[in-house]
Amino acid sequence: MNIAISIDIGGTNTKIALVNEEGQILRKTAISTWEGNSKNAFFDNLFSGINELVSPEIFHQIIGIGIDAPSCVPKEGIIKGASNLPLKGEVPIVDILGIKYKKPVFLCNDANAAALGEGEFGNAQGLKNFLVVTLGTGLGAGIIVDGKVMTGYSGLSGEMGHITAVKNGRQCGCGRKGCLETYISATGIKRNFLAELADSQVKSKLENLPLSEITTQKIAKAAEEGDIPSLKSFEIGGKILGENLANYVHLFEPEAIILAGGLATVGEILFTPTINALFENLLPNYIDTIQVLPSALGANEAALLGASTLVFNKK
Ligand SMILES: [Zn+2]
Repeated sequence: MNIAISIDIGGTNTKIALVNEEGQILRKTAISTWEGNSKNAFFDNLFSGINELVSPEIFHQIIGIGIDAPSCVPKEGIIKGASNLPLKGEVPIVDILGIKYKKPVFLCNDANAAALGEGEFGNAQGLKNFLVVTLGTGLGAGIIVDGKVMTGYSGLSGEMGHITAVKNGRQCGCGRKGCLETYISATGIKRNFLAELADSQVKSKLENLPLSEITTQKIAKAAEEGDIPSLKSFEIGGKILGENLANYVHLFEPEAIILAGGLATVGEILFTPTINALFENLLPNYIDTIQVLPSALGANEAALLGASTLVFNKK
């Protein structure tokens, strides 16, 4: 059996899995991305995690390593300028793992990996044109055009979280203002909620919590229970997302938009305002062909599975 090692590097945790060609996760583990708070500590922890999964018998079945990460330049095999990883400067991750394990190593952007996973094993199976929007701490997009992931010149396409959604809007971590992810992402929803609280006459059941205890999960739960400022936070985020997705549909004409990632698992409270704003802003010709779907893969698995396809599709 051919097996790939998949590594999904995230701002909080890095997941490692052994995946077969059918997309089954055979074994998996995770390390804390920031444990030890240095590049060397990260690689020590990563190697330990891999060694924990790969016994000597399994090692000869490994045909390659697929990695997805934020802030990477796949064409050069490096992670570069990552503000949310302990990997500062330029880190030649493809070479580091290639030298260590002597297997082919492939790298792609995390949102592109999620799109590859969704296309191969999830709700976009059989589709040739679709968009996967990953809604987590930030917002990313994987764009599949004519059956191929649209990587851009050096693999940097799909930074949908940093398109300007509101002119001179909220300050974004990237240094610019009004980026989409400051309104719709886990952090965006929290900012919507805090703005609602500051502005609104309507009481929220969360308003007596200390700021540090207000989480997107709590806002989602309160919204489901009918808490008005919480519901409003998702309505604002969904509306801005839908309006921007309409622009993307006009450019790429995807058959489907898949909303993936932890935040998308809240379901209707996000999907309804998003879909309404999308259809309100679409030209009539697009209305009958586009559908908005949830991810069929676990919030934590789409990118891991996608990273494995980098190995299998290149073998
Ligand atoms: Zn930004």
